[in-house]
Amino acid sequence: MNTKVDFSDIKGQVALVTGSGQGIGKAIAEKLAAHGAHIVISDVNPETARKTADEIAGMGVETLSAACDVSSKEQVDNMFQKILEKWGKLDILVNNAGITMDGLFIRMKEEQWQKVLSVNLFGVFLCSQAASNIMRKVRKGTIISISSIAAHGNPGQANYSASKAGVIGLSNTLARELAPLGIRSNAIAPGFIRTPMTDKIPEKHRERILAGIPLARPGEPEDVANAVLFLASDLASYITGHVLDVNGGITGL
Ligand code: NAP
Repeated sequence: MNTKVDFSDIKGQVALVTGSGQGIGKAIAEKLAAHGAHIVISDVNPETARKTADEIAGMGVETLSAACDVSSKEQVDNMFQKILEKWGKLDILVNNAGITMDGLFIRMKEEQWQKVLSVNLFGVFLCSQAASNIMRKVRKGTIISISSIAAHGNPGQANYSASKAGVIGLSNTLARELAPLGIRSNAIAPGFIRTPMTDKIPEKHRERILAGIPLARPGEPEDVANAVLFLASDLASYITGHVLDVNGGITGL
């Protein structure tokens, strides 16, 4: 029996990873590139997008660096236009871009709510719709959206939690609507992953979260990237509408 895991179908596919200038998105881009995918490095920050795209080009795959705020329809449309001009197709979309603007609900400002919902949820709507319109023509494609354990609720993150719960509802709906068009849609719900986003959490709070992780370590961006690789590959060809927890066993933050 051949027990070697085979991700060779990823080779030559075109993958767009939003928010991939740093953190989890960068690790996902590197992982897919390591298996031969051509990568669109997309980020609101043009410098990190360009730097990461240059690094990944050094791995021998084709790259496109796109400065794009996922909450802007105009910028998303421009990015997809560039992808079509370069490759004429898109096989994998990873909706990874996300932000936090934490605060207690009682005092949460309307801008905090609107900004987080527009990047974390409206951005997933815009990119998924643009990607689906490309993928449906060839009746093949996969969408992976990064939610969070905070989707279950987390004090101080009413906006973030609502956006990440919304991502799960959207992802599950896409799974059902797009299955007849040959498109799979899944979500990943990371727990506590070491990135610039979690570096911002105060030390005391971070220690409390870490102490509650059964596997007794923080997650690494590569842990999430491994889950994306699996869900994007043909090994997951019968999996759609799933939410994969990558959290070391914690049940809440
Ligand atoms: P991160 O280090 O802050 O990286 C997020 C990236 O997205 C940054 O490069 C950021 O750019 C970019 N970005 C911000 N706003 C954007 C926009 N409007 N359009 C496009 N790109 C934008 O965060 P991360 O920890 O890697 O998180 C990645 C994803 O995982 C997010 O969706 C997050 O909610 C989710 N997640 C993370 C954890 C965790 O423990 N880290 C846990 C659960 C879920 P700039 O920062 O340069 O502006």
